[in-house]
Amino acid sequence: MGTYGMGSDDDRAVNALRHGLDRGMLLIDTAEMYGSGHSEEVVSRAVEGRRDSVFVASKVSPSHFAYDDVLRSAQKSLKRLRLKQMDLYQLHWPNPSIPISETMRAMEKLANDGLTRYVGVSNFSIAQMQEAQKALSKNRIVSNQVEYSLLERSIEKDLLLYCQKEGVTVIAYSPLGQGKMPKGRGAAFDILDKVAEKLGKSRNQVALNWLLHQESVVVIPKAVRKEHLAENAESCGWRLDNSDYELVGNAFPRVF
Ligand code: NAP
Repeated sequence: MGTYGMGSDDDRAVNALRHGLDRGMLLIDTAEMYGSGHSEEVVSRAVEGRRDSVFVASKVSPSHFAYDDVLRSAQKSLKRLRLKQMDLYQLHWPNPSIPISETMRAMEKLANDGLTRYVGVSNFSIAQMQEAQKALSKNRIVSNQVEYSLLERSIEKDLLLYCQKEGVTVIAYSPLGQGKMPKGRGAAFDILDKVAEKLGKSRNQVALNWLLHQESVVVIPKAVRKEHLAENAESCGWRLDNSDYELVGNAFPRVF
């Protein structure tokens, strides 16, 4: 589950995340940048009492990529999350003005000290991933969080294949096109709706399932409405016929 823009009603956001956890969506993505840290406090309330079954991912902002700043940001995130360890700590966006070797030295220290379990990046190109990986001595970059949906397929040009080949998980953000997917009209959406109808699923479920069907891809849809969470939680555990995956994929343009 994503948490960006969960809104100003904390109780509603906490309840939404708990509703999602109850339905098996066990990865929560947040960032120090979201609500200037407040999103992490909301997440801490949602995971209270069930920490062990939840995979908590947060991100450090590019302005904090200097060695000491990374360590400080992680400590602050842990405090807001009220956790001893984050499962995944991601570099939110590349920052070319700070040497990646310096940032990665700090990321490695956090992992070695047990404050983070896995090192990840977000919005990194292939070249930036390679450089970042080279700067790590022991740890592996396990994930790259990038925009990916039927409406935004740029990563299929080369990044997706690269991640699949290297065993790096693609965490697809805005998998419902920031809410554009549910509202879309036109020929491609008609095809999607037909495929969904055949299976007794919804358009959004097929759109998320189509992403999950791609090797090494996980999705982090954000939702505060309970009916949306319930719908999204039922997007996996079943599959389309191969011909329908193809039909849906071909319906939406891949503009590179
Ligand atoms: P999204 O998940 O594609 O779309 C969220 C919107 O779709 C919300 O308005 C939500 O409504 C609506 N929605 C969700 N499920 C729905 C359903 N079943 N039916 C109808 N509408 C539905 O977009 P996103 O929030 O941009 O992306 C998800 C997460 O990715 C973020 O929260 C954040 O954690 C992460 N992200 C990361 C980056 C990055 O740079 N790393 C950038 C953007 C996003 P309600 O909330 O009203 O239920």
